[in-house]
Amino acid sequence: MNPSHDQSSSDATREPVLAASGLRKTYRMGRVPVQVLKDASIEVRSGEWVAILGASGSGKSTLLHLLGGLDRPDRDGGMIHFEGRRVSEFGGAELNTYRNRSVGFVFQFYHLLPELSVLENAMLPCLVPNRWLSATLPLLAAVIGGGVGAAVGSTFGVEILPTADPPTPSKIALLAVTCGVLGAAIGVVLFQLGQVVAERTRLRHGPQAAISRNTLEEFGLGHRLRHRPSQLSGGERQRTAIARALASEPGVLMADEPTGNLDATTGREILDLLKKRHDAGLTIVMVTHDSAVAEYADRIVRLEDGRVVESPA
Ligand code: ADP
Ligand code: MG
Repeated sequence: MNPSHDQSSSDATREPVLAASGLRKTYRMGRVPVQVLKDASIEVRSGEWVAILGASGSGKSTLLHLLGGLDRPDRDGGMIHFEGRRVSEFGGAELNTYRNRSVGFVFQFYHLLPELSVLENAMLPCLVPNRWLSATLPLLAAVIGGGVGAAVGSTFGVEILPTADPPTPSKIALLAVTCGVLGAAIGVVLFQLGQVVAERTRLRHGPQAAISRNTLEEFGLGHRLRHRPSQLSGGERQRTAIARALASEPGVLMADEPTGNLDATTGREILDLLKKRHDAGLTIVMVTHDSAVAEYADRIVRLEDGRVVESPA
C-alpha cells in the first residue's frame, strides 16, 4: 500500500469512474473454446491507482482490452460502465472516441509508429481526422473544380482550338467534359495539398502541439521532439507512449505491463513518472505479473481463474 493515497482510496463514497461486472471472454483455439475470463468484476474510483496482479496467461491483457474498449466480452458476457455510460452499447464513432480520448493506453512494447516523430506520436490520439469531412470535402472540391472547368472549356475553349470550322454543339460538349474532368482533378489535388499544409501547421503550431510538447518536456524529452522512435532508448520510448496516452487528458490511464520490457532502474523511472501524474489526480489501472511493480498502486487486486479477487492486505 502506498500510504500517501490511503485517504483518496478509502473514499468509498466516490462514484466509480469505471465499473465492470461479470465479464466473460472466451477465445477459440480451433474448435476448442478457452474461457479466459469467467466472472471478472472490478470497480475503479476516480483518482485511484489500481494494480491487477496475475500470472502470465491469466487474462490480464484480455481484461484491460475489454475495459478499454479494444475488444468486446462474450455475448451476454457482463457489462462495463464508464462514467455511468455502458461501454458495450457504444456504436462505432462513440467507441472510437472512448478508446482515443476517454481512456489512454500504455503497452509493454510501446506501440509507437516508426515513421512519425516523437511529437507526432505523442499527439496521435488528437489527430484522428473527421471521417465525414475527409470524405465530403474532396468530393466538393471535385464538383466545384469540374463545374468551373466545364464552364471555362465551353466558353473559351472553342476560341483557342486550331480549326477554321465553326464549333459544333458536340465539339463544345466534348470540350466542356474534358475541361470539367481536368478541373475536377486539379480541384482534388489542390484540396489535398491544402490539407497537407493545414495538417502540418496544426502539428507544429496548434494548441494540441503545445500540450504534447509540454508533456514531453516534463518527461525530459524536449530535446527529442523530432527524433524517430528507433533513435530512442526503451525508457524514452515508454515516456513517449505515456505522453501519447495522456494527450487527450483521459479519465483513466490503462497500463499493460508498462515496465515489462525495461531494466529495473528504467522501470522505476517510469513508475515514478506515473506516480507523479497520479499524485496530480490521474486515475490508473495497471496490470502486471510483478508484485514489486504492483506495490506502487493504492490498491492491488489479483486475477485468478478468470475472476478478480481482492488481495489480502
Ligand atoms: P496475460 O496478459 O495475463 O498474460 P492474456 O490476456 O494475454 O494473458 O491471455 C490469456 C490467455 O488467453 C492466454 O492463454 C492466451 O494464450 C489466450 N489468448 C489471448 N489472446 C488470444 C487470442 N486472440 N486468441 C486465442 N487465445 C488468446
Ligand atoms: Mg499480457
